[in-house]
Formats: sequence, C-alpha cells, structure tokens
Amino acid sequence: MKKYVLISGGLIGAVFILLALIPPSITRFASHQVASIFFIDSVKTEDLQGRYEQGKKIKILVVPGHDQSSYGTLHEDVREVDLNLELGEYLFKELEKNDQFEVTLAQTDKGYDKDILDYMTRNSSLISAFQATKKSIMNRLIAEGLVKPKSVVDHISASNDVVSKLYGLNYWANTNNIDLVLHLHFNDYPGCRNDVEPKYKGFSIYLPEEQYSNSKASWDIGKQIKKKLSAEYKESNHPLEKETLIPDQELIAIGAFNTLDAASVLIEYGYIYESHLGANSKSGRSRTLKDLAWLTAEGVEEFFED
Ligand SMILES: [Zn+2]
Repeated sequence: MKKYVLISGGLIGAVFILLALIPPSITRFASHQVASIFFIDSVKTEDLQGRYEQGKKIKILVVPGHDQSSYGTLHEDVREVDLNLELGEYLFKELEKNDQFEVTLAQTDKGYDKDILDYMTRNSSLISAFQATKKSIMNRLIAEGLVKPKSVVDHISASNDVVSKLYGLNYWANTNNIDLVLHLHFNDYPGCRNDVEPKYKGFSIYLPEEQYSNSKASWDIGKQIKKKLSAEYKESNHPLEKETLIPDQELIAIGAFNTLDAASVLIEYGYIYESHLGANSKSGRSRTLKDLAWLTAEGVEEFFED
C-alpha cells in the first residue's frame, strides 16, 4: 500500500495538546465555518444528478497521487508518480470533453497547479488550524461514543509535507465548492520483491467510510467507476481488497477526520509491476493509461447521467 495517510505519533500527541487548548465554543464555531459536519451529508447523489440534469456546471478536481519530492512506489525504472501524472493528463482531457464538467488538474509533470499552490502557501496556518480542529472534533465524538473508529487496510504514514498538501487540497476543494475529487494511484505491497511472482494484482477503489459526510455520493460514483473498470481489468485479489470498494477512515485524500465536503474516490488502478503497465514498453503503458482514463471518465459520466 502506498497511500498517504494520517499523521505520525508525534503529531497525534500535538493534536491532543491542541485539543485541550481549544475551547469547545471555538471548535463548534470552526466546525460550522468550514467543512463537513458529522451526521449531515455534505454532498448528495440526487443533488449532483439534479444539477447536472439542469445543465449546471459540475466541478471536478483530479489529483494524480504523490509528487516529485515523494514519488510513491517504484518498479524497475517506473515511478508511481509518473504513471499517476500521465493518467491524470488523459483523465483531465477525457472529462473536459463534457461541457458540463469544469475540471482542475492538481498537478502535471511541471508541478502543482499554480493557483492551488499559491492558495495553500498563503493559507498554510489556516489549513493547519483546520486540520487540528477537525481532528479534535472527531476525537471528541469518538471519545463520546458517537463515532466509531474503523479500519480495513493499514496505510503507510506520510511525511509532514505530504500531509499538509493533502489537507491543503481538501481545504481548497471545500472553499472552491468542488463537487468531486478523483485521486489516482497505483498499488504495491511490502515483500512483493521477494516473491518469485508477485501474488497480488488488480484494481481497487477506496471510499469514505459511511460515518463521513461525503460518503454516500462517493460510493455511488465509486460503484459506477468500478463497473466500467471491471469490464476490462481484474479486481484486486488482495484479501483485504476482496470487496474492491473499500471503506476507509484514514486516507486524507477521501476526507480523514471528515475534512472533505466533496465526493471523493481514490482509485488504485493496479499493482505497479503488472505486465499491462509495461515497465519495458512506454507505448504499451501509455495505451493502458489512456484506456484507464477513458473508463474512469465514462464511469463518472454514467453516474451523472443515471
Ligand atoms: Zn500511491
């Protein structure tokens, strides 16, 4: 698993200290000021589909996973970030063909979108406070027994820089009324290099766990994308991914600590060493990435046209 999540132990400690320092009135105020509130849907399938039917614009953010400073997983000389970036460009172009979609690509091989990066830099202290507040609210709800912590798949902890960027993207998406966020990744597992033939293959889709405010619509979109991808590609045979659609509470990308209003879908398009990702054939790989982008865009469109 090469998904970026959560926080280090030190940060958890810091959050608890912050928790103690933040008066309840402030966290209550902050929770209403920005981002999802537990027990209330922040996005609804019928609203998204209704707006689409009325010819209104739907705002989509495409996020190729990882970046140049932290490139994800690696197979031979193929870095995950490069697959994600190439796929991101194709997906952006496919979605842009639909006039009703207003699409933002978070980064290309030239770096992050300038407006998003400037926004994150300008608002870095606000974003840190947002993170801390949302964590303290969720931790308090857990302590009160109102929210249950759940975990299916363990994830590798991300660096502080990556954590800040991911929360920054959620914050940017919330303040820019993004409707849907698509995070693009390729998978891996510890120990695969010691296997004669790596055991695991296939795609999986991570979605916000049901207690999060953006969960329901995300699942409806995730199901459509799964339907399209599974027509051509194998679903993951990893025992923890056997459902293919996996609820997750810890991935920041899909709204850890209820930090994201938009529907969000994180797709692991396959294991990086799989032959169709063709480590030894760039043209074969590009064909596959275009196909994956096309199927994803079709799944998104079918959700809106349902
Ligand atoms: Zn990844």
